Amino acid sequence: MNPSLSSLPKVDKLLDHPLLSEFNHHPILKNIIKKYLSSLRQEILTNNINEIPAINSIAKQIQIEFKSLSTPSLKSLINATGISLQTNLGRSIFSPKVIEKITPMLSEYLNLEYDIKKGERGERYSHLVPLLCAMFECEDALIVNNNAAAVMLIINTFAKDKEVIISRGELVEIGGSFRIPEVIKGSGGLLCEVGASNKTHLIDYKNAISPSSAIIAKIHKSNFAQVGFCSEVEFKDLINLARQTNLIDYFDLGSGFIDGFKTDEPSVLEIMKLDPSLISFSGDKLFGGTQAGIILGKKNLITELKKNHLLRALRIDKISLLILQETLLAYLHKDYELIPTISQLSQSIQTLQERAYELLSFLENSNLNLVFEIKKSAARAGGGSLPLQEFASQAITFKVKNIQEFSFYLRHLGLIHRIHQDRIYLDVFCIKAHHFKPIADAIKYAIKNTSHNLKS
Ligand SMILES: *Cc1c(COP(=O)(O)O)cnc(C)c1O
Repeated sequence: MNPSLSSLPKVDKLLDHPLLSEFNHHPILKNIIKKYLSSLRQEILTNNINEIPAINSIAKQIQIEFKSLSTPSLKSLINATGISLQTNLGRSIFSPKVIEKITPMLSEYLNLEYDIKKGERGERYSHLVPLLCAMFECEDALIVNNNAAAVMLIINTFAKDKEVIISRGELVEIGGSFRIPEVIKGSGGLLCEVGASNKTHLIDYKNAISPSSAIIAKIHKSNFAQVGFCSEVEFKDLINLARQTNLIDYFDLGSGFIDGFKTDEPSVLEIMKLDPSLISFSGDKLFGGTQAGIILGKKNLITELKKNHLLRALRIDKISLLILQETLLAYLHKDYELIPTISQLSQSIQTLQERAYELLSFLENSNLNLVFEIKKSAARAGGGSLPLQEFASQAITFKVKNIQEFSFYLRHLGLIHRIHQDRIYLDVFCIKAHHFKPIADAIKYAIKNTSHNLKS
């Protein structure tokens, strides 16, 4: 038989319960109680429970819920995955020196939209333009909230109800369900696909041009690559075609490589030397700054972008702008120590070997009673960039029983790792010396919480 609904405890009774008295009748306490009781009521009505829990156990659940709500949800983690720009882990990290520099500015007013010389309203977009133009040899620049916003703004401004010509090989989906065809549609543009998924030729673009064409776009394939029987048209040929036909050429570079380590990817400067109409890239991928979309290109086009009312919804915030300013200055001075993404991607294998040995001996001296080994590992840039490029790295690996459970407890203490061939892998690519102790602590915690035994 169903327990009776009338035997559910009353809200007031729970509010006064000794376990909840420390919360002093906080307004959200009442909401939590009401929500909890309503879910219990639902369980009773759907015959999911045979017995109403004791009032003490209900109060205990509510206490746990209140405490969890008042604990920050975002916390720092140790990235032992060997993926530098892990999108799920927040992509680029910042140098403590950069944070130190901008922190005092955050508690003061600043000339975000104020022209000091004229004593009147200025533009938040103007601050980094001279530096961007000098560094990348372009006429003008615009920084928006992220690269997705840059794509939307460009399509919406120049191709509303008009066609954007794109190769079928570049209609990619990147993480977080950002799909080029949907983004174009969502921005008011019409997609004109050309070529085949593996091969697209210049003639395919030429044949597609009609009075309704507006943009010839090239999209970086992000974390996807084609090998074998495939070919694409170089951006310089698309620029020429666009120029001959009075269209706008646009390259969504995705990541946008600047400088500081070895890769086959053309740099933003090399691409700007082709004199394109517009390009855009992310601020927190290989650039190593913060979330932003950096648009470079022709002055008349950037002026049009700035007139689009959507820009207000896509604008960059002041904290991001301050971090980008520091990142750009670090590039200017080739002070790559200030850009952790670049420091990571330019590490030598010797540095990584030394770090692996240091971590190994730290763990061996931590009485963990596990057998640790150093193995070769392949680190990656991540963040949808350089899909085929591996960075030789090193990992500390070990075996445990109940590996999934062990892995859960490591994650619980913020150690994000990989499991490979039944072993835990801690890639040292994104690890620093100050992480050694928390790593040992996380392993200790996992040992304590799992019924683990060494495998023979
Ligand atoms: C990452 C990426 C985007 C989106 O950039 P965000 O800065 O994450 O908004 C757009 N296009 C391509 C090709 C990308 O790789």
